Amino acid sequence: KMSGNVSGNFPPFYEDEVGDRITVRSDEELKAMLSYYCNTMTEQRINGLLPDPLQIFPRVSAASDLSLCLCCFQINGQDIEYQEQLGHGNGGTVYKANHLSYKRVLAVKVIPLDITVELQKQIMSELEILYKCDSPYIITFFGAFFVENRISICTEFMDGGSLDVYKRIPEYVLGRIAVAVVKGLTYLWSLKILHRDVKPSNMLVNTRGQVKLCDFGVSTQLVNSIAKTYVGTNAYMAPERISGEQYGIHADVWSVGISLMEVHALAEMMGPPSSRDVNLVFVCFPQPLQLLQCIVDEDPPVLPVGQFSETFVHFVTQCMKRQPKERPAPNNLMEHPFIAQHNDGSAEVVSQWVSHSLEERRFWLGV
Ligand code: ATP
Ligand code: MG
Repeated sequence: KMSGNVSGNFPPFYEDEVGDRITVRSDEELKAMLSYYCNTMTEQRINGLLPDPLQIFPRVSAASDLSLCLCCFQINGQDIEYQEQLGHGNGGTVYKANHLSYKRVLAVKVIPLDITVELQKQIMSELEILYKCDSPYIITFFGAFFVENRISICTEFMDGGSLDVYKRIPEYVLGRIAVAVVKGLTYLWSLKILHRDVKPSNMLVNTRGQVKLCDFGVSTQLVNSIAKTYVGTNAYMAPERISGEQYGIHADVWSVGISLMEVHALAEMMGPPSSRDVNLVFVCFPQPLQLLQCIVDEDPPVLPVGQFSETFVHFVTQCMKRQPKERPAPNNLMEHPFIAQHNDGSAEVVSQWVSHSLEERRFWLGV
C-alpha cells in the first residue's frame, strides 16, 4: 500500500529496507522506486511474508522539504554560490549564498578548524540532531560539509539579521521577540539541548516577523575545537558559567535576561559609562576581564524603576537572579506576565518593525 502525495514542486521521499530516506526527483526515479518496491514485495510474498507498506513522505513545507532534500543529497560546496559577507564572530564568517540547484538563499557560516578527520566525522555526526530540530523559533539547518580545514554550516537566511545591529528595541516589539525566544529555548530544552550561547547576535529576525534562535551548541566537539582558538567566555554568560561551575537550563535563562536588557534598556542610555550604575554598563562597554569579574562578584544589574515597565523589569530581574534555582523554570517563563501579555501569535508587529528599520538603515546608508 502506498500513501502520500507524490506530486508537487519538491521531491517526495520513500524509505528503503534499512530505513534510509530515498529522494525521488524524476519520473525515471519514480519508476525505479516502484519497480524496486514490486520486486521486494514479490520476494517477501514468495517467502510467505506480508510485504511492508511503502511509505512516501510528502511535501510538508518548503523549508522542511528543502532541509530533507539537502540532507538526502548531502549538501556540498559545489552547489553554493557565495554572495556578500553578513558578519563575523569569534569563530567564523557568515555569508549570504545561493543554493544553485534549489534556487534558495542560505546563510553559510564558515569556520576554519585545524582538526583530524576523526574529529571532523565526530562533528558531522553531532550536527545530525539539527535535522531533527523542527520549530518555527529555531533556524532551519540545511546541512554541513568540510572543505580542507574549514567547516561550512548552511542554514536558512534571515533578511532582518540579528538583534545586535538594531537600535533600541521598543517594548511592544521586544515583548513579541521575547515570546519567540522563550518558545525556541523551551523547544531546545525539550530535546535536552542547552543553547549555551544566547545573546542578541544569535537571535535572528526577518521581514515576515519571524524570530529564530541560531548557533546553539549541539556539537561539543565543534565548541571545543573553536574554543581552542578563541576565548570561550562572554558578557552574556551566567555567573556560574564564568566561575566554571556546573550549569544547566538556568544559565540560558540568565542570558535571555541580560540580552533583552541590553537590546531594550541599555541601548537607550547614552553617555559615558561613569555616569551610570557600574552594573548596568557591563554589556555595552565590555572590558573583558573586569567585566567578567564584575558579573561574578557584583549584584546582578537592576533596571531603574520608573523608566521601564514593571513587568519587563520584573522579568529581567527574575532571569538574572544570582542563584540559578531562583530563576524562572521553563513553564514559569511562559506564564510570566511580560511573556503572557505579548503571546498573541501576531507576527505583524515584528514584521513591520523589521521592515521599517531596514528601510531606515538603507536610507542612512544611501542605498
Ligand atoms: P560569536 O561568534 O561570538 O557567536 P556572532 O554571533 O556575532 O558572534 P556569527 O555567529 O559568526 O557571530 O554571526 C555573524 C553575523 O552574521 C551575525 O551577527 C548576524 O548578523 C549574521 N548572521 C548569522 N546567521 C545569519 C542568518 N542565518 N541570516 C542572516 N544573518 C545571519
Ligand atoms: Mg552567532
